[in-house]
Amino acid sequence: MNVIERIDDLRQTVTQARCSGQSIGFVPTMGGLHAGHLRLVAQARRECDLVVVSVFVNPLQFGPTEDFASYPRPFERDASLAQEAGCDVLFHPSVEEMYGQAGQSGAGTGVLTSVAVAQLSEPMCGAYRPGFFAGVATVVAKLFAICDADRAYFGMKDYQQLLVVRQMAHDLSFRTEVVGVPTQRAHNGLALSSRNEYLSVDDREREAEIIYVALMGGAQTIVDGERHAKALRAKIDDVLVGVERFDVEYLEIRDAETLAELDLLSGPVLIALAVWVGSGSQRARLIDNIVLHIDDDTGRVDVEAGEIVEEYPA
Ligand code: AMP
Repeated sequence: MNVIERIDDLRQTVTQARCSGQSIGFVPTMGGLHAGHLRLVAQARRECDLVVVSVFVNPLQFGPTEDFASYPRPFERDASLAQEAGCDVLFHPSVEEMYGQAGQSGAGTGVLTSVAVAQLSEPMCGAYRPGFFAGVATVVAKLFAICDADRAYFGMKDYQQLLVVRQMAHDLSFRTEVVGVPTQRAHNGLALSSRNEYLSVDDREREAEIIYVALMGGAQTIVDGERHAKALRAKIDDVLVGVERFDVEYLEIRDAETLAELDLLSGPVLIALAVWVGSGSQRARLIDNIVLHIDDDTGRVDVEAGEIVEEYPA
């Protein structure tokens, strides 16, 4: 595996691969790799000739009070996990390499351009994390421009991000196809996340699993025939209410393609939530979701809830 820190070097490597007829698969990450990330790498490995993984903690997508400084950066471990999973090129640029000298302009970086994806960026996480999706869309556009991949792999765990990035790639005519990969979950259903490390073992094992219980309960309610979003919300709220060390930031039931709010459930439906779990320094904001496809003619409901893959701790 080749570790590259410079934009020009990555460009040269992918150009050479492309000239020799290879297809390129790209997996952008912020590091702190776990089985969720590795599932994306494994799929890229199966589908593409050259697999590029980036590890870059992107300052543009963190708010001033968020965890940019403390975000996990176990680079040696990430490098060996990426290699084992089949990565050919690990792109690990510095903030200066990506955005110029700190303090030059903008919020502590040298970047003046921002990519904004209207509508899809506005509700849910966008409402609680101003600037987050612009930070994501900007860094992904830049990475797509550098990497020029055939396919890029994104997790369904960050479902709104997947829709924002897919729309951005379409609107800006990137050649890169954005592929969504199912959410990877620990044995208790907790979606794997680099931020789970902030939690105490107890909260990770017992409190956080309520998220999955609530989502699966919601899915079952729909499978059982409920078609009113208000009634579904009440059922899910019942599970979430009263859990200790647990603050629900949002619970949303929306069209899974447009993110429009729904009163009546039909077609592709997204149930998504963000919760704060834990207390003090062992507190983390976790997001999760489930997607259902309701066939209005037959009443059939398909549930996309992800895959249980790993015992905790890893
Ligand atoms: P991050 O490092 O958190 O920015 O995540 C990098 C990529 O990995 C994003 O496309 C995420 O959606 C994806 N990802 C993170 N956690 C999971 C998970 N548990 N299952 C599937 N994909 C994930």
